[in-house]
Amino acid sequence: MSILVWFRRDLRVQDNPALARAIKDGKTLRLPVIGVYAYEPDGVAGWAPGAASRWYLDRSLRSLQAQLAALGIPLHLKRDGVSESIRALAHHLRCERVYWNRVVEPGQAAVDDAVHHSLTQTGILPKVFDDDCLLMPEQLRRADGSSYRVFTPFWRRASEILESADFGERLAPAPKPLAKPLEVDPGSVDGLGLLDAHPWHAKLEKHWSPGEAGALDQWTAFFGDAIVDYDSDRDMPGMPGTSRLSPALHFGEISVARMFAQCAERLASETSEGARASIRRYLSELGWREFSRHVLYARPDSLNRSLDRRFDRPEAWEPDPDGRRLRAWQQGETGFSLVDAGMRQLWETGWMHNRVRMVVASLLTKNIGIHWREGAHWFWDTLVDSDLPSNTLGWQWVAGCGTDAAPYYRIFNPETQAEKFDPQHEYRSRWLGDGLRPAPMLDLKASRQQALSRYQIAIKGQAA
Ligand SMILES: Cc1cc2nc3c(=O)[nH]c(=O)nc-3n(C[C@H](O)[C@H](O)[C@H](O)COP(=O)(O)OP(=O)(O)OC[C@H]3O[C@@H](n4cnc5c(N)ncnc54)[C@H](O)[C@@H]3O)c2cc1C
Repeated sequence: MSILVWFRRDLRVQDNPALARAIKDGKTLRLPVIGVYAYEPDGVAGWAPGAASRWYLDRSLRSLQAQLAALGIPLHLKRDGVSESIRALAHHLRCERVYWNRVVEPGQAAVDDAVHHSLTQTGILPKVFDDDCLLMPEQLRRADGSSYRVFTPFWRRASEILESADFGERLAPAPKPLAKPLEVDPGSVDGLGLLDAHPWHAKLEKHWSPGEAGALDQWTAFFGDAIVDYDSDRDMPGMPGTSRLSPALHFGEISVARMFAQCAERLASETSEGARASIRRYLSELGWREFSRHVLYARPDSLNRSLDRRFDRPEAWEPDPDGRRLRAWQQGETGFSLVDAGMRQLWETGWMHNRVRMVVASLLTKNIGIHWREGAHWFWDTLVDSDLPSNTLGWQWVAGCGTDAAPYYRIFNPETQAEKFDPQHEYRSRWLGDGLRPAPMLDLKASRQQALSRYQIAIKGQAA
C-alpha cells in the first residue's frame, strides 16, 4: 500500500500542498509516498504543447525526479491517456490514496473528474488541493454570482480577500528525506519524447535553469534587489527589470502563494514609498496571471474564438493567402526594429519582454491585420512560458477583442514605442546587431487607418 502524488503544474517539492499532505498522511498511516507525472501530447482544444515549452518541461522533470529521488520518492512517468494512466498505476502499485493539485485550465476539470471517478469506483481515496491560483474561481465572484470581466474590480476584490488569506499547507517547508536516496534512471524522461529530434533547443540551455532550485534562486535574486525598482524598470526591455519567472510559474516550480505571501510581508514593513509602489505593481502583475485564469475558466471557448464574437468575422481581418506577411513577422523581418528585435529574442531565448509582446502583437493584429489566433499559435510554439490563460488573454487584450481589452484605437506605434522604451537602443542592438535591416513592410499611418476602417465596418457595422 502507498500514497500516490500526481504531479501536474506543480513541479516542486517545497510549498506543494498535495505532496506535503501525502508526506504527513504517509507518516501517520505508515505508507510510502510515490510520485507520477503523466504527459498528454495532444494538449487541449488544438493546443498541443509547443516545442520550446516541451524542452523546458523535459528539463524541469529531470530536476524534479532528482529532487524526489533524494527524498526517497520515485517518480513514475507516463504518456498518453492521463486518467487511464493514473488509474492503472494506482492499481498496479496498490495505492490506497491519490493526491493532486488542481489545474485551473480548460479541459482539466474533466480530467480531474474522470480520475476522481475511476479511483473512487475501485475504492481508492482521491484528495484534491488548490495551488494553481491565489484564489480559485469559485472563491471570487461578483455579487450576482458571475465571474469578473474587468481587471480593476477583480484585483481590488481579490486583494481584499487575500489580505486575510491563510495559505496553510500551501506554504510548506522543503520535506525531509523519507527513505534512502534512490538511483535515477537517466533515460526515463527520454521516454516521454518531449524533445524534437533536431537539437535546435541547445540554444535555450544558456538562458534558463529549469527546476525548483533555479526558480527559487531567480526569485531570491529578484526579490532581494530589482523588485524595489520594478515600477520604473519593468517597461524597459533593455534592462533586467522583471523577474523572468513566467516559465517557473507556469510549470509550478515556484508557488504563487509563496511569492504573494513574501511580497505582502515585505509591504507591511517597507517604508520607502517607491519600493512599496513597486511591490504593489508586482503583485498586480501576479493579479493579471490570476485574472487570465479566471477569465478562461469562465469562457473556455475563448481559447479559439474572440471573446467579442464580432472579431471572428472575416471582414475584421486582412487576407494573407501565401502567408508571406505572417512569415515576415515570425522571422523578425518586418523592418520595424523593436518588433524584429522582439521576434529574434523570442526565437533565440524562448521568451520576450512584456512591453515588446504588446508591440509585436499590435503590429500583427492591427497594422498587418492578421487574426490574433495566428500570433497566439506562434507564441505558443516558441515561448518557454507558453500558458493558455495568459497567452489567450494577452492576445485578445492587444487585438481589442478580449474582456477588459485595450480600446481598439490604441494601436501601438512601434517606432514611438522604441524611442520611449529603448531610447539607448540597448535592446535592439542586442538582438539585431548592426547589420542591414529590411525596409518597413508597411506604412504605419495608412495601415492604422485601414485597421480603424475594418473596425468600423466589421465590428461597428458602419461605413468608414
Ligand atoms: C500577446 C501576449 C502574450 C502573452 N503570452 C504569455 C504566455 O504565454 N505566458 C505567460 O506567462 N505570459 C504571457 N504574457 C504575459 C507577460 O508578457 C509575461 O507573463 C511576462 O512578460 C513574463 O515575464 P516576467 O516573468 O519577467 O514577468 P514579471 O513582470 O516579472 O511578472 C511576474 C509574473 O506575473 C505574471 N504576469 C505578468 N504580466 C502578466 C500579464 N500581462 N498577463 C498574465 N500574467 C502576467 C507572469 O506570471 C509573470 O511571470 C503575454 C502577454 C502578451 C501581451
